[in-house]
Amino acid sequence: MKALVGNINRYALHDGPGIRTTVFFKGCTLHCPWCHNPELISPEPEVAFYPERCITCGDCLAVCPQEAIRMQSEDRVDRKRCTGCGLCAESCPSGALARVGREYELEELIEILLRDRMFYKMSGGGVTLSGGEPTQQLLFISALLNRLRHEGIHTTLETNGLFFYEQFAAACLDYLDLIFFDLKFADSAQHQKVLGCCNRVIWENLSSLLTKRAQDVIVRIPMIPGYTATHENIDRIGRFLRQQKAQYYSLLPYNPYGLAKAAAVSMTPDQTLPEQAMDQSELLPWQEFFYGMALVTP
Ligand code: SF4
Ligand code: SF4
Repeated sequence: MKALVGNINRYALHDGPGIRTTVFFKGCTLHCPWCHNPELISPEPEVAFYPERCITCGDCLAVCPQEAIRMQSEDRVDRKRCTGCGLCAESCPSGALARVGREYELEELIEILLRDRMFYKMSGGGVTLSGGEPTQQLLFISALLNRLRHEGIHTTLETNGLFFYEQFAAACLDYLDLIFFDLKFADSAQHQKVLGCCNRVIWENLSSLLTKRAQDVIVRIPMIPGYTATHENIDRIGRFLRQQKAQYYSLLPYNPYGLAKAAAVSMTPDQTLPEQAMDQSELLPWQEFFYGMALVTP
């Protein structure tokens, strides 16, 4: 059994309690313009290009079997021809090309994750599955979570909430200790316009999860200027969460971190997004919309 993984981050401190290893799965069903990991949206392996590191040696051009390298192009890689084989990244001496996405066998990944079990134990940490959207590789994460549970490792899932609830619940719920569940837009038409699908399934899934495991769910709202951070949107989300008896929420301050990474995989960064990160203090006024719930800071 294999999964396509974009990155494995050891000693992570912000993806759940304690010291954790976070596995970033590749492939996502939403297309958030502010995504922190745009290189993980595509479910296929690909290469990222960072022009500022390129020393124009031409090694990539020589090794590419698909003739997909365009030395004169800002993007460098012709994405229509590229198969994501990674040969150019292997040959690149400066790190200007980097492979994104590698298949891992279940046992190989478990062996990596268990290397830090002493840190998990000492700090109350564990393993977090993130992405991309981990539930896109449901059978794999089910088997992985099952094994981690068997090993006594605390497990956390970060999800965009877009999955078939019954299948997800049967495959994963018994093996999960904590779920970070993202909500973006209360208005379904806006959700459709910006993210590519309506919000009905996501909100129904959250409702089902809260009914069953409210104590293990932290609802996260990314605060994005010009998108989610509006009075009407946050007010509606707050009212929905109170109605559903959510216990925990978290507000994620906007960060332009993903914009440069989007350009690296030939995606056009959203020009309306600010270049300045949001300060944590700017979140304070929004907290009043979530009275009755406990704030969890990342
Ligand atoms: S990943 Fe492979 S196919 Fe794509 S540009 Fe590099 S060498 Fe060519
Ligand atoms: S191999 Fe790397 S450094 Fe050399 S031209 Fe290609 S991208 Fe630039």
